[in-house]
Amino acid sequence: MAITERHEENITGLHVCVDCAAVIANGDWEQIDDYDKYDIRQGLARTSGGYWVLDCGENEENDIDFSTTPCDCCRRKWAGARHGASILDALFS
Ligand SMILES: [Zn+2]
Repeated sequence: MAITERHEENITGLHVCVDCAAVIANGDWEQIDDYDKYDIRQGLARTSGGYWVLDCGENEENDIDFSTTPCDCCRRKWAGARHGASILDALFS
């Protein structure tokens, strides 16, 4: 019988909108209306067992001033700034 070993990997190169960035960085939900909170909570739950972090330090060059690409977390399509982000310790098998 084959045993599949699970291992953890970081998922890097993601880009999140300013709303998701505020929640990931500070847990700040204040400026977000209830409808958008649902999308963000769904996005935060897509971690494969890991957790979201914003890129910082030398990785801040992953930030984008303006993008029309959907946010990698909440998947909303609002154009605007995107912050570099990663999911750490995601589980794979
Ligand atoms: Zn978002």
